[in-house]
Amino acid sequence: MSEVVRVSMQGEIAVVTVDSPPVNTLSRDVRAGLKECFESLRGRADVKAVVLACAGKTFLSGGDMREFETGVQEPGYHEVLRLIEDSAVPVVAALYGTVMGGGLETAIACHYRIALDGTRLGLPEITLGIIPGAGGTQRMPRLIGLEPALDMMLSGKPLTAAQAKDLGLVDAVVADDVTGAAIAHARELAAAGKGPRRTRERSVAGSEKAAEAIAARRVQAAKTMRNRNSPNVLLDAVQAAVDKPFDEGIAFERSLSNEVERAVEGRAFRHLFFGERDLRRIPGLPADVKARKVAKVGIVGAGTMGGGIGMCFANAGIPVTIVDTAQANLDRGLATIRKNYERSVSRGSLKPEQMEQRLALIAPTLDYAALNDADLIVEAVFENMALKKEIFAKLDAVAKPGAILGTNTSTLDIDEIAAETKRPQDVIGLHFFSPANVMQLLEIVQCAKTAPDVVMTALDIAKTIRKVGVVAKVCYGFIGNRMMDPYGREAERCVMEGATPAEVDGALEDFGMAMGILAVYDMAGIDIGHLTRVARAHLLPKDPTFYRPTALLTERGWLGQKSGRGYYRYDSPDRKRTPDPEAIAMFAAEAQRLGVPQRKPSQQEIRERCLYAMINEGALLLEEGIAVRASDIDIVYASGYGFPRYRGGPMFYADTVGLKVIYDKILEFRKTLDPQYWQPAPLLEKLAKAGSSFAQWQAERT
Ligand code: NAD
Repeated sequence: MSEVVRVSMQGEIAVVTVDSPPVNTLSRDVRAGLKECFESLRGRADVKAVVLACAGKTFLSGGDMREFETGVQEPGYHEVLRLIEDSAVPVVAALYGTVMGGGLETAIACHYRIALDGTRLGLPEITLGIIPGAGGTQRMPRLIGLEPALDMMLSGKPLTAAQAKDLGLVDAVVADDVTGAAIAHARELAAAGKGPRRTRERSVAGSEKAAEAIAARRVQAAKTMRNRNSPNVLLDAVQAAVDKPFDEGIAFERSLSNEVERAVEGRAFRHLFFGERDLRRIPGLPADVKARKVAKVGIVGAGTMGGGIGMCFANAGIPVTIVDTAQANLDRGLATIRKNYERSVSRGSLKPEQMEQRLALIAPTLDYAALNDADLIVEAVFENMALKKEIFAKLDAVAKPGAILGTNTSTLDIDEIAAETKRPQDVIGLHFFSPANVMQLLEIVQCAKTAPDVVMTALDIAKTIRKVGVVAKVCYGFIGNRMMDPYGREAERCVMEGATPAEVDGALEDFGMAMGILAVYDMAGIDIGHLTRVARAHLLPKDPTFYRPTALLTERGWLGQKSGRGYYRYDSPDRKRTPDPEAIAMFAAEAQRLGVPQRKPSQQEIRERCLYAMINEGALLLEEGIAVRASDIDIVYASGYGFPRYRGGPMFYADTVGLKVIYDKILEFRKTLDPQYWQPAPLLEKLAKAGSSFAQWQAERT
């Protein structure tokens, strides 16, 4: 007998219940149990209808991701779903919780569906670079029609129970006891003599317009899901649902599904997905270290970052005290927070009373002593070492014993800041990204003396405020900004060689970066990076062309979007970037003055220079132990720097290109470009020569 699926009789109704905590994943054991139960019900005269129900948090929540690595074990999805659909008596599914992917594909192989209010139903495969592979592409268009099925599968977004009802995906929505309602429905069907209603026997509504509809979706996908193949494959599968008999369509879906699973895109998404599960595994941090309790938070600095960070905690229901130096700064900071919330309210994503609740959790003050009961204090004042030291000395004096002292510095040496306190074990970097209330990434910077339970607490905090927390060690720029440095350096150097900003950004955006780096500088403020380079001038190359375009723009006061011009102009009515011939002429004149030969690098060269420089720096970070895993770097880039997820992050991407190819290119650049910047990282060299990869290197160490 299966341990995770059981059958019980409610009069003439057989109730098949899946009970596989935590979320009733459609694992091998669950499939085997379903097979066993449905086989045992076959041909039983005493069974007039069947209810497929679940125990615990949710109906079948999805397929088993682990089987991507092992291959699907017997019995396969199709065999089990076919068995359910073939039932000679009606099968009613009782849906609740999150019914996704394989879970929903099982539900639509049943004959009828009742959903609890609040159920979410979706086929999110596209967000993992794959397609529904358990009949979803064939059954969903038959069940709800072509256009709604395309919307659902191409967006990957779940439907609410009410939306599912409107589309005919579920037969009824109930407020409580969904299993009871499904049993009642099964009884009615049996009493009315209604038989099975098999999805596979239906035809696709809207199929007469399928050719145009699918062609239009291809055009749209080429724009909104650039460089991706899985949307096209999905459309091929849906075309088959229209053109082919069900069984042939299923066979076609299966071959397409196998193909996308093996393709780089699918592997890239899974790499990031599984990588996120590893983030809490930190060398020297035993899994049983207990985190500290964080029930009250203090923030120093009510500026751009402090305000956004405050919102993160208030959103999680945690009270926040914000300190600044003047009432005007506090007022400005709080007004910005309110404006951000009001925008969410006007968009309908937040209720007005929720906004008031959250605002009520944020207490502004000029008095540092008000931080004396905070469990965690995050400093977010100007990026200035002397100021940060002064503040940490103050915090050391007011914070309660055991309070965690975090800094949001982007570039400063946190060990040096920690040394200002008598409790360096409680000091940690908490590097949020702008806008902090929106961006997913949190770099957690473990200093030389940070205590293990402080790191664990930071990882927990990330979870509480729904961020992806990645641990890094102290160095200039940590993981993300340190790799940005050589990336930006090459972009700027390409500008000096005669590429226009639009050509540089275009090359990077065609690759899939959310925004080209020069446009990013315009958005963040051109002066920000420039000022950090001025502060670190003694550590930087004595190369007059190094980040020269940014320096020139800063000198002209063209500081990016905030001044209406920077690498681009922003004075068109829609405030979109447009090329700035004056800026381009200024760069050209400077190149001439500095004797930089004009050669217009190709799009491919721009991409290779920027990305390979970034990857090489990533290899250094791994060797230095700043990043624990190559996948950590990939997660930083995919969640904080707009690196395309379908390419899996820079280190995964490097593996797909081949480390030898990258290594050879770097040697070539050493000959053809400025050799001081093109030293292959020893780890890259070693792996390239051994025919190895970052993935293999990581696997051997963990
Ligand atoms: P900001 O200028 O918007 O805000 C700084 C705030 O700190 C101001 O309100 C200022 O009045 C306040 N402040 C200054 N001295 C203070 C003191 N002694 N006590 C209390 N408050 C004081 O700056 P920001 O952009 O929010 O940056 C803050 C920190 O976050 C910096 O370390 C920066 O490097 C880092 N950071 C910024 C970004 C970004 O994109 N803006 C991203 C990541 C990290």
